[in-house]
Amino acid sequence: MSARELVVLGTASQAPTRTRNHNGYLLRWDGTSVLFEAGEGTQRQMVLAGVASPRVERICVSHRHGDHCLGVPGVLARMALDAPGRTVTVHGPRDAEAHLRALASVADADVHALVEAVDATHDADVPVAGVAGARLSARLLDHRVPAVGYRLAEPDGRRFVPGALAAAGIAGPDVGRLQREGVLRGVRLADVTEPRPGQVFAIAMDTRDHPALDAVLRGADLAVVEATFLDRDRDLAERYAHLTARQAATAAARAGVRRLVLTHFSQRYTDPGEFAAEARAALADVGADVEVHVAADLDVVPVPARR
Ligand SMILES: [Zn+2]
Repeated sequence: MSARELVVLGTASQAPTRTRNHNGYLLRWDGTSVLFEAGEGTQRQMVLAGVASPRVERICVSHRHGDHCLGVPGVLARMALDAPGRTVTVHGPRDAEAHLRALASVADADVHALVEAVDATHDADVPVAGVAGARLSARLLDHRVPAVGYRLAEPDGRRFVPGALAAAGIAGPDVGRLQREGVLRGVRLADVTEPRPGQVFAIAMDTRDHPALDAVLRGADLAVVEATFLDRDRDLAERYAHLTARQAATAAARAGVRRLVLTHFSQRYTDPGEFAAEARAALADVGADVEVHVAADLDVVPVPARR
């Protein structure tokens, strides 16, 4: 199977720092790539990360605040340079549509940027697009302006069990025949296969703690969640509609996330270890087995192997 992994392009909230660029998260998913968020400097971060712009088939923006979208024209310009004439779709909530159209309009004419707005709600996964056989959807979170979280969910399937195939005497081209026809020489597909749960990637940027956050994250193999603040500044998190590391980890635990990437850090904190310690303490409090990764720019984080 092709690689499924996250390339972290930027991890700063509000203002970039000497070590943290504005937000950008590239998801490699089989043969394609989706860019989630494109803050200022994302084009340059793609160069540093060795990300090829022609592989990016769509850009998903969570909301219209600048740290999440001011890099869109630069990324589009790079696409125009690398692969002139191509089409790329830019997704965002309806509230961000005018911003995204304005940003796309100043990009090079050699790229066709289609802006597609989603009318998201708190209560449902609203379909956005199909990506390499998986379903991309959006759900409204709880920020100061409408912001959405995205889920990329692969449908559940079935996989062959090699031992069962051998015991049934099915090999070579017969495997393909059985797959197509469902039954071969009295052997049913169900006899030699087992359920294969689809993989899920989720990303929830700027939001307060909210039931919709749990819904975006539910069952995710890999989830990227903002942790702008530490819990000692919980009042600031509430006031500015963000999460603390403790809140992000607790939500991930409730949702059954396997690997959690924390990001979007306030520049007021200098020690990333504090985010890791706080998240792990929160997970220990509820006895949850979630792997925590505190993101640094240019980190590569694989989607965990299938269950
Ligand atoms: Zn932000």
